[in-house]
Amino acid sequence: MSELHLVDAHCHLDFESFDNDREQVIQRAEKNNISDIIIPGTQKKYWPRIRKLCAGHNQLHACYGLHPYWTDRHCEQDLVELAAYIEANTPVALGECGLDFRPQQADREKQLHFFEAQLGLAEKFRIPLVIHSVNATEVVIRCIKKFSGLRGMIHSYSGSTEQAKQLLDLGFLISISAAVTYDNAKKIRRVVRDIPLTTLLLETDAPDQPDRQHSGERNEPAYLVNTLEAIAGIREQDIEIIAKQTTANARALFTI
Ligand SMILES: [Zn+2]
Repeated sequence: MSELHLVDAHCHLDFESFDNDREQVIQRAEKNNISDIIIPGTQKKYWPRIRKLCAGHNQLHACYGLHPYWTDRHCEQDLVELAAYIEANTPVALGECGLDFRPQQADREKQLHFFEAQLGLAEKFRIPLVIHSVNATEVVIRCIKKFSGLRGMIHSYSGSTEQAKQLLDLGFLISISAAVTYDNAKKIRRVVRDIPLTTLLLETDAPDQPDRQHSGERNEPAYLVNTLEAIAGIREQDIEIIAKQTTANARALFTI
């Protein structure tokens, strides 16, 4: 498989769980055909560490944004600084931003405020978005429709095929995590089978969401090949075809 090139479209390589062996993780990714890794931003205080990490590695690409999971830590000034940070550092995308409507998450109105503000910034700066959507895909679609010319990816997609098709029409790609490696993931396996290959991306979401073989362990980009193999199995297509097209999709979206 040495001729394969894969893009991990979503990996939190800046997180502390990689502090002890980050360089080895990056080397293992290279050995496992991962040619590029997209690193999403989560909170203002961590943007500089992503910028530094990516500056030292050609294959790592930065995004800056305010993640809904940490909504209670964001403030209005963060949005002003996000605009300035995007202008100064030209990230490959804005994110991750979005909505997480699980019960324990932050106030929905506050999440919506930061999400729509970031959609506005993406419209203004004409850059792709990395969107987090958990139990919120209907509302995410409604929010995207309020703006024009947006594009991007829905990371670790968990919605329906019908919603995926609406998102494709709105300019968004569907990013598939290792959730697809679990036999009980019927909904996402159906999405993978039913939407065009030209609209799919692969991601690990490491250190979270390990595949079935690594259940309970820390996830890392080297494991992306297991998601690739699962998708090839579901679609009954060669892994080379899936690899080539999803890599082309990622390169086009992020201009890498
Ligand atoms: Zn993420």
